[in-house]
Order: sequence, then C-alpha cells, then structure tokens
Amino acid sequence: MKTIHRIGNAASKLKQACCNVLERNRSVSDEMVFINLQRLFYTCSVTVLVNIVYIWMFYKGLEVNSETERLWRMGVILCHGLSFCLALLLALLCSYFKNRAQTNLFVRIIPYVAASGFLSFGVFVTAFAQSVIPNITPFLVTCMIVGSLIFIRPSFAIVFYAVAFGAFYYALGITQTNPVILFSNRINGITAVALGCALSIILWNAKAADILQGRFIVKQQEELEEKNKEFVFLAFYDPMTSLYNRRKLEELLKHEMPMIYEYDYEACLILMDIDHFKRINDNYGHPEGDAVIRQLAATLLETTRKDDLVARWGGEEFLVLLPNTSLEAGIRMAERLREVVQDSVFTIQEQTIHITASFGVVPLRRDCNNTLELAYRNVDKALYMAKDKGRNCVAVVSR
Ligand code: GH3
Ligand code: MG
Ligand code: MG
Repeated sequence: MKTIHRIGNAASKLKQACCNVLERNRSVSDEMVFINLQRLFYTCSVTVLVNIVYIWMFYKGLEVNSETERLWRMGVILCHGLSFCLALLLALLCSYFKNRAQTNLFVRIIPYVAASGFLSFGVFVTAFAQSVIPNITPFLVTCMIVGSLIFIRPSFAIVFYAVAFGAFYYALGITQTNPVILFSNRINGITAVALGCALSIILWNAKAADILQGRFIVKQQEELEEKNKEFVFLAFYDPMTSLYNRRKLEELLKHEMPMIYEYDYEACLILMDIDHFKRINDNYGHPEGDAVIRQLAATLLETTRKDDLVARWGGEEFLVLLPNTSLEAGIRMAERLREVVQDSVFTIQEQTIHITASFGVVPLRRDCNNTLELAYRNVDKALYMAKDKGRNCVAVVSR
C-alpha cells in the first residue's frame, strides 16, 4: 500500500515537473521566434549564395564520366535548386517579419519550415551521394547546423529529428545497395540525429534560462524604480493630501532665499490655518476632518497659480510660496484664498458645512525676512495676528 502511495507521489511530482518545463518553454517561445527570424535571415541569405556556387560548380565543374555520376550531379543540383528557392523565400519572409512586435501562427511556423527544409536537404543530398561518396557527411552537417542555429521547442525537436532519421533511413535504403555500408551509414545516422537533437535541446534550455533571467532582471529593475518613486513620494510629499511636505518646501525655500540677494528679487509667503478645526474633529470625527483637509488641499492647488508652491506645513496648516510676487500681489492672493475657503462647501455625513481660515502674509525681500528663520517667525506672527483679529482674515508682517 505504501509502495503504491510512493509511486503515486513520484508520478504526480514528475507530472508537475513536466508541466513546469512545458509552461517555461511555452512562455519563452515568442522571444525564440524572433531570435530564429533574425538568425534565419542571415543563414538563409548565406545559404542562397552557397546554393548558387554549388549549382554552378556541379553544372560546369567536372567532366561527366558515368551515368552514376551524372545522376549524382543532377541530384545535387536539384537539391541545391530547391534549397535556393526555399532559402530565398525564407530570407524574404524573415526580413519582413523579424522587426515586427507580434507573432502569429504563420510567423511561428517559419523556423519549423526552415528546420524541415534543411534536414530534408541533408537527407536527399546524402542519399544522392551514396553511389559516389558512401558517407553521411551532408546529413551530419545539416543536423548540426539545424541543432545549433534554429531554436526548436525540445518536444518538437525530438519529433523532428526522429522523422528526419526515418526519412534518412528510408532514402538510404533506395540509393545505397551495399548492405554493409547501408547498415554502417544508418547507424551513423542515429549519431547525427542524436547530436543534432541534443544540441538543439541544450541550446534551447540555455537560451530559455537567459531570457527568463533577463525578464527577472527587468522586473526587479521595474520594482526598484517603483519603490524609488514611493520613497521619493514619501520623502517629499504629504501622503494624505499629495501636496509637498514641509521638508520639500524648506528645500525649495532654501533655493529661493539666495535669489533675493542676488537679483533684488521679491517673493511672498502665506501661512494658512483652518479656524476652529478642533470642533470639526469633535463634532464629526477624525476621518471626516481628514476628508476636509484633503478637499481643502485640492482647492488650494486649484486656486493658486502654476508657479506657486503649496505645502502641508503640519496638521491643518498650509504654507504657500508665491515666487516672483510683490507684497501687494501676495496679499491679494491670500484674500482670494480666504474667500475661496469661505465659499467652499464641504459635505460631511450628508451635511454640508462651511469653514474659514486665517492667513499670515510676509514678503521675502533683500531688506526684510531675508533669512528663513526670520521669514518663519514673521509669517507665524502674522497668522497669530489674524487669529487675534477674530479669524477668517489676512494679516501682514512686512518688516
Ligand atoms: P484655531 O486654529 O482657530 O485657533 O483653532 P483650531 O481648533 O484649529 O486649533 P488648532 O489649530 O490649535 O488645532 C488644530 C487641530 O487640528 C488639532 C488637531 O486635532 C487637528 N488636526 C491636526 N492635524 C490633523 C489631521 O491630520 N487630521 C485631522 N482630522 N485633524 C487634525
Ligand atoms: Mg493649527
Ligand atoms: Mg486651526
């Protein structure tokens, strides 16, 4: 009983392993098709030239001494003629399809047609040569060329080489009349197909491993880039509102400050704080408070200009940097923001509510707020002044 169980286990493991191998081979077959098309384009182009040279040599080269030799030469010319036509057609098809992005059934069978053509060529040239040169060199060479140049799925390779051997076995039986040579050549034929098939399977597996490793590296790089983007986002953006965070705005401000010395440049800083925000949290809960902060952030982005920089400074406070802006224009922008906030409608738990905010404004100029510390201190002071004035207003500290 235990033995049967073990055999069952081993069989299911073997089945799983076979399925994995088949799945792996299937998954790389499209890449293999394109590599085959590239290789076949060059191989077939060279084959066309080789065929022409052979046809010319066999047609012109030697005196015909016997009927046997004439038949052999006609056979070789016929094989090269057919090979020429097939190789030319394949070279043209490969040049047309090799740079396409997608495969289809027609494109996928091109390498198999090429492999069949080359192997048939080897079988027929060897068979025709038997009366003159009783060895199997052409068949051996074509098996090795097909095995090393064309990537064929291992399961198909086994079938291909088995069929090629069948054809070789049968064709030699027609042209080789000496039983000893026939036997020896047929045995050598097994070696030729075994070598070709082994080469094909080994090279396929090596290339498949290459492709899978390449894919793995690309995937890892993509994941790394994705993670990098996440890190950059977390480092410079506020996850709740997607506005710049304090760190990023400070960095941008550090860049802005030297300009006010160098170019007599003027900018403005607005600090905004929602009025009585605690009440919203107390009345509706923290998540609803978050939703208000998010909606307000979007409103601020919509209202400010393209070059203005909006950051969540902390809690329900927002800092807006208005580059290249005079104090008057900065106050106007703060007023506009105040009105937009006041007029905005926020929907909480199916109720609409209104909020207001207070604003502190300071200019960043050569003669005033010319260091970050001063600017922060004064913009904070301006905001407190606005709160003191009764909230929902704009206050300025201009020196
Ligand atoms: P005012 O500014 O007008 O003086 O009153 P306030 O009620 O807004 O008071 P304060 O600015 O001191 O308090 C801010 C409140 O905002 C306190 C805190 O619970 C809340 N808060 C800060 N950050 C968040 C947040 O991310 N989400 C939510 N829901 N509430 C926050
Ligand atoms: Mg606050
Ligand atoms: Mg507040």
